[in-house]
Formats: sequence, structure tokens, C-alpha cells
Amino acid sequence: MQGLKSNKAGDLYHWFKSMMTTVEDTKEQKAIADEVFFRFFNLRPDERVLKRDDRFSESDIVRLKKAVQRLNRGEPVQHITGVTEFFGLDIHVNGSVLIPRPETEEMVLSVCKEIEKVYDTVTPLHVLDIGTGSGCIAIALASRFRKSHISAIEISEDAISIAKRNADLHGAMIRFIHHDILSSDHSIFSPESLNCIVSNPPYVRDSEKRNMALKVVDYEPAKALFVPDDDPMLFYRIIAQKASIWLRKDGLLFAEINEALSSDCRDVILSAGFSEAIINKDIHGKDRFIRARM
Ligand code: GLN
Repeated sequence: MQGLKSNKAGDLYHWFKSMMTTVEDTKEQKAIADEVFFRFFNLRPDERVLKRDDRFSESDIVRLKKAVQRLNRGEPVQHITGVTEFFGLDIHVNGSVLIPRPETEEMVLSVCKEIEKVYDTVTPLHVLDIGTGSGCIAIALASRFRKSHISAIEISEDAISIAKRNADLHGAMIRFIHHDILSSDHSIFSPESLNCIVSNPPYVRDSEKRNMALKVVDYEPAKALFVPDDDPMLFYRIIAQKASIWLRKDGLLFAEINEALSSDCRDVILSAGFSEAIINKDIHGKDRFIRARM
């Protein structure tokens, strides 16, 4: 095979990196190669170095070759390995769910901190994740708050089946509900029955698509990402309305937001009757989260 010196782990690793012709950044090449060697062969970087003279089989080499072809076509590495890590948990992903982002992990961390501050950990909480996708938010919260009752709404049946698989993998008892949050039906939860609602709804305006990486636009579900330019608050408006019915007094609403639309989000949430709505920045200093209280 072109440029491949031997079938030893060390040589294969360097060959694999050098074959990634469409990934320009060398740090990114290394991160991808490390992830592939870990997920395919269970070799973390330190172990891979120790085992650099171990020989790989012909089928392993074919597997790597197929992976590099897919990477060079622009496919995200998470689709090739089928899994990613979120909040210390392995989460299976495919083209029907959004690949969990570090920002969303940040949001979950702040949700945990806030819940721990506001509620005692003995009372079982009622929590809802709207648009759960892979289930990453709901599962992370279930793993942190073992006694809580967690529900998750999702419009895509394909997403629900992967979210259920992820929940089973982590022993998370989550009630998945196949439901369109934009529907006019308020009856899936009783009024004032929830303590906390979390959501990472679609918030990228259609016109922003042109600035996005092709691996996102081409491989991730548009339904989970985009909103029309003439109504970017669509999901926040409906979520805020329904949350104002479903949340108990003092209940909390957390959502990930478009950095360019934070004040619109705040207005929408306050007009739905929330007493407080606070914007928080992500690690890149961008307005990314909103936290509201009934
Ligand atoms: N942050 C995501 C992205 O940039 C968008 C997530 C969303 O629309 N909820 O791809």
C-alpha cells in the first residue's frame, strides 16, 4: 500500500496520518488518528507507542484504508467510529443525530451546578430534555442525578432508537417521547409538573449555512441545526411557552443559543412569563447559553 513501510502499529499510525490529505491541520490529523486507533483497536496514544512493533492484520489495514477514504470525503470521524465521548460517557452517533458538541457539555455542567445549588439532592427531580437527538444531555443528567425522573422529547424516530441504545448502554432510565415540540399539543406534561427543562434546539439560521464546515452541512441532520431566517426564534418561542406551563414555580429552563441572537432569546423567554433570564458565554467567549427561572 502506498507509503506503508510495514504492518507494525507505529508505521501504520504514521501512514494513516499521512493519508489524510483533506485534513490540513496536523494537530487535527493527530487527534483523528488517535481517535481511530483507540476506537478501532482500543489503543490509546501511550499504549500505541508501547506496542508500536505489534503487527496488524490485513483486515485491520483494509479497515483503516476505508476509514481514510471516508475522512478524505469529508465525513466526521465520529461517523466512522460510530461513537464519541460526552460528559465522560460513550455516546453512539450516526447521521440521524447531531454529534454532541463541547459547548453542550459545558451547558450540562452548568445545569448540574445550578440544580445542585437550587435543589436538595434527596428530592427526585422531574427533568425534560427537548430535542434529545443522541440522548446525550438526558443521559448525562441521568448519570449525575440517579434518582431523577428524566423525559426526553424527539421528533425523529431514528434519533430515538439511537438515544434508547445510548440510554441502555449507561443504564439510564429515560422516558423517550416521540413528539413534535412545535405541535400545538400541551398535554404531554401536566401543568407545573417539571423542575427543569433543558434544550439544544436548532438555532443556526439558513443563511449561516454558508459559513459552516462541510462536514457539518453534508453529514449532520439539517433538522437538528437550521431555522428559517425569517423566524429564528421559532423553537425558543414554543419552548418558552410550553415551559411556562410545564415548569413548577421556581422551575429552571436552560437552552443553548445562537451567539448572534442572545438578546432576542432573552426577550422571547421573558415575554413567556419567566421572572429572570441570564445569558452565559461559552469557552470561546460567545453568548451561548440562556438560563431562566419561572
Ligand atoms: N453548535 C452547533 C453547530 O455549530 C449547532 C447546534 C444547534 O443548532 N443546536 O453546529
